[in-house]
Amino acid sequence: MHRFTLLSFLSIATLGQAATLYQGATIVSLADGDDTAVPGWILVDDNGYIEALGSGAAPEAASEKASESIDLSGQIVMPGFVSGHSHLWQSAFRGIAPDGELWPWLDAIHRTYGDDFAEGDLAAVTTHGALDQLVHGVTTTYNHSHWLDFPAELYFEQFQAEAKLPQRFVYAHCLPLKESPAVWREQIDTYFPEVQPAPDAPFLGLSLNVRNYGSEETLDEQIKLANELGLTYQLHYLEQSSRQEGDRAEWPSYMEHKVVGPRTTFAHFIHTDAAILKDAAAAGAAMVWNPLSNGRLGSGLADIPGYLKAGLGVGMGVDGQASADISDPFENMRMGLYATRMQDENADGLQPIDMLRLHTLRTAEVLKVDAYVGSLEPGKFADFLVIDPKSPATGPVWNPASHLVFSCSSANITAIYVGGKKVVEDGKVPGQDLAALSTEVAQRIAAIQERQSRN
Ligand SMILES: [Zn+2]
Repeated sequence: MHRFTLLSFLSIATLGQAATLYQGATIVSLADGDDTAVPGWILVDDNGYIEALGSGAAPEAASEKASESIDLSGQIVMPGFVSGHSHLWQSAFRGIAPDGELWPWLDAIHRTYGDDFAEGDLAAVTTHGALDQLVHGVTTTYNHSHWLDFPAELYFEQFQAEAKLPQRFVYAHCLPLKESPAVWREQIDTYFPEVQPAPDAPFLGLSLNVRNYGSEETLDEQIKLANELGLTYQLHYLEQSSRQEGDRAEWPSYMEHKVVGPRTTFAHFIHTDAAILKDAAAAGAAMVWNPLSNGRLGSGLADIPGYLKAGLGVGMGVDGQASADISDPFENMRMGLYATRMQDENADGLQPIDMLRLHTLRTAEVLKVDAYVGSLEPGKFADFLVIDPKSPATGPVWNPASHLVFSCSSANITAIYVGGKKVVEDGKVPGQDLAALSTEVAQRIAAIQERQSRN
């Protein structure tokens, strides 16, 4: 982090206004090229941007600038986690279909309850999912929304609910494939405000949930719209093991229809072959690895070391809570790392610092939001976790990065800041009654079950 200090001095001197200085914590910035983890300081301006940070004691200019100084000695500070693939509404369906691979599991949720949602249900379950991720340390999520048998006003509750919460999000909009592209455009103009990233603005970007369930013409129209609007888009692909042969057979069509490009992310992307991997990497596409979900649904283990070696962009996601079923990025990193080491029968491949970076900066990169989030660097939003390795007691810290990945869990998070504002303290979200929300969601799900049983 030394390289930031000089830069910081210069910028501090030229900027006015008060700021908050966080001192004493071991800082794991996860910026590219910075693998250090040493005690240091972070200066956050009053707009919620990181103004400067460095190792050791804060320079005088930083102390003078700060109207408030917060001592975080003994704590570890790291960027908030980014989830590159999630379905927030599934938060109310944990533990369901325990013996199901992807498709039977989908049958048990989507195709059983999809047309039984009523007004307010999607807002409540989305809020439940987002706040659950947030208290586990996911400060930015990619909400791959679903449009089941919902009328439009219910479907858009997913976006409207998230826009009111402190968790940042990229919204993967699900186009209603039965409607015409003209209707798609009209809905986008009606329901989505312009994206204006700012420290206090949770909506970080619009993306598309592209589906290949219809005709080739429908696939072309979705990609055409994404290109016209300059949007990223994500497809589920190569997830369920028993369907892999058929999935792989779709690849030539994806290439022919120019689906695969630098704004494409594939969720899961497990059962690739050499040609698919080569094409995807050459096109600048990326994949999102979801180890908890891939384990829960028996989907398989993606060859992440091989993908990285091939130059493919890799991010990580906690997926929906119905397949994760705890949205804890620490568990997600451990599951992914341990499964890879078991498979490879060695421990000198992926390292803890790599896992931390995959679940933060690399995911922000594949989602094209790394100018704002994913690492602690001057000019980015002040989104960070304060982690106390002493509570629960995890023993002496030999190596902060490996301690975070091997020894800590979300239970060690004492505070979470988004845009310089404390949005989580000891598992609570100021202004949100999580217990009341939980009760409301249980009541709404009971009503959904009741309606389903009558259908
Ligand atoms: Zn998914």
